[in-house]
Amino acid sequence: MTDAASPNPVHDGTSNPSPGPNHFIRQIIIDDLARGRLAQIHTRFPPEPNGYLHIGHAKSICLNFGLAAEFTGLCNLRFDDTNPGKEDIEFVEAIKEDVRWLGYQWSELRHASDYFESFYRCAEKLIRVGLAYVCDLDADAVRNYRGTLTEAGRNSPFRERTVEENLDLFARMRAGEFADGARTLRAHIDMASGNINLRDPAIYRIRKVTHQHTGSDWCIYPMYDFAHCLSDAIEGISHSLCTLEFEDHRPLYDWYLDKIDLVNDPQLVAPVLQKGLTAPLSRPRQIEFSRLNLDYVLLSKRKLLALVNDRLVDGWNDPRMPTLCGIRRRGYPAAAVRELARRIGVTKQESVIEYSVLENLVREDLDASAERRMAVLDPIKLVLTNLAADHHELLVAANHPKDASRGSRQIAFGRELYIEREDFMEVPVKGFHRLVVGGEVRLRFAGIIRCIAVVKHDDGTIAELHATLDLASRHGMPGAERKVKGTLHWVCAAHAIAAEVRLYDRLFTVPDPDDERDGKSYRDHLNPDSVRVVTKAKLEASLGTAVAEQRFQFERLGYFVADRYQHQPNRPVFNRICSLRDSWTAVAKG
Ligand code: ATP
Ligand code: MG
Repeated sequence: MTDAASPNPVHDGTSNPSPGPNHFIRQIIIDDLARGRLAQIHTRFPPEPNGYLHIGHAKSICLNFGLAAEFTGLCNLRFDDTNPGKEDIEFVEAIKEDVRWLGYQWSELRHASDYFESFYRCAEKLIRVGLAYVCDLDADAVRNYRGTLTEAGRNSPFRERTVEENLDLFARMRAGEFADGARTLRAHIDMASGNINLRDPAIYRIRKVTHQHTGSDWCIYPMYDFAHCLSDAIEGISHSLCTLEFEDHRPLYDWYLDKIDLVNDPQLVAPVLQKGLTAPLSRPRQIEFSRLNLDYVLLSKRKLLALVNDRLVDGWNDPRMPTLCGIRRRGYPAAAVRELARRIGVTKQESVIEYSVLENLVREDLDASAERRMAVLDPIKLVLTNLAADHHELLVAANHPKDASRGSRQIAFGRELYIEREDFMEVPVKGFHRLVVGGEVRLRFAGIIRCIAVVKHDDGTIAELHATLDLASRHGMPGAERKVKGTLHWVCAAHAIAAEVRLYDRLFTVPDPDDERDGKSYRDHLNPDSVRVVTKAKLEASLGTAVAEQRFQFERLGYFVADRYQHQPNRPVFNRICSLRDSWTAVAKG
């Protein structure tokens, strides 16, 4: 499953060292608790299981679960599954896994569809008090009657049906007597309201499809606004936190709760209790906050789904995807994502966070947590001609330069090594401090070498480099302090293991991939070089014991993770998590 099985230490998301800077939602909760308005807070994270969770959702998850933990309250995971057709059990399972990976455990797992029978009773109650009616207008007509921002809507000709007729028609909608779209149940509010959401919104629609949780039990499904506030009330949610696009829906959220008044009409939730679920009942309060946006990243489930379906990426968990399973596979530690949520805080101000903020948090985490290893991505052979052909020794290499408690490992060293092709230049450019013919560099842990010759193939390409090792320059020797400009990483040719390494770059080339000006779409902004697969990488032998999801710093190259799905000890596959230095800001600003 999740991090429990992962070799990297995880922090328990429920015990962040500090909750971060104060924000308006926390302040509301503090006040509510101080005034004795409630004994315990209860939040929920309510994803619709129609796609995979992304980094944007992580903000909501960290906020809801984080506040519950901070104030010793409760937080439910609720599948907002009122829109069958697009929903799937695959998404349900993935969402649970992602929430756990982020380090959170829900108090209760709920499905809005568990409340369908209660919702139905609530709708009947509205009909009985003359606040809902069955409308025969089709979707186009409803739109025509709705009016515009500047123009009032018109009343539906079906608005004044009797209670009896409405109850009868609603029951027959449920019984499946009418075709999809033929009728809707609508709230009887105000077609002239300045808030279009209050112009007799639909409460139920007919959809004869199988539901991933309730199968074919229902052919009418409640609309989001109706189902959401009632689900919150049934579960005893105190603070219903959602993103800003729901601000205009809040009057409707409150209208339903006021008119239905679940708290004083508990028989409405009897069907929930009959299912063996609790229904603590509350009068929840909706509070909106701004979404998380990241530059260079697309955070729309619909568009991410299109990327997957059109095979522009290799599935939801492609390491280039901003999905939680994607960044997990990419090697991002869950703690860095939680830290991002903590640092950006919670406001009502829309903003775009630079991707480098997230990547720097990842880097910060990995600098402390990842052990160092050596790997060569584009190997070229280096022969140390002053060593015997059978020269073999084991050098001691610290696993972490800043943390002695991480211990050390042995690395094989011999006459033939691999170094990075780009660390040598036959005709060096100005300022090149790595290996050149006649020049010296230090080989990490091994001592200073001088390049003495370049051996070429017939076609002029380099076959191997020859160099001599200055044994006196080694650790503990008289020349150990001798300074040379460059230090190179390397692996021992006889002991290196072959690996596949995937180098990822941003998926989009522009900061706002969603920018549709000039008739473009995100598809036009895909980076054609977002992944480069290196098949001939060489790793130091100790990496032969790496397990899937284990993270390392490959010295000088960046941070890498053993691929969660494809890495095998005898066929290592590593993904680059990020480079050692920020490559985003420079590009973004340049
Ligand atoms: P959809 O268009 O499918 O509704 P959605 O991204 O809103 O997509 P939900 O499953 O409804 O997906 O989202 C679950 C919760 O996560 C909601 O409360 C939503 O407000 C929140 N959420 C979604 N995207 C972000 C984001 N970018 N930043 C913060 N919260 C988000
Ligand atoms: Mg949504």
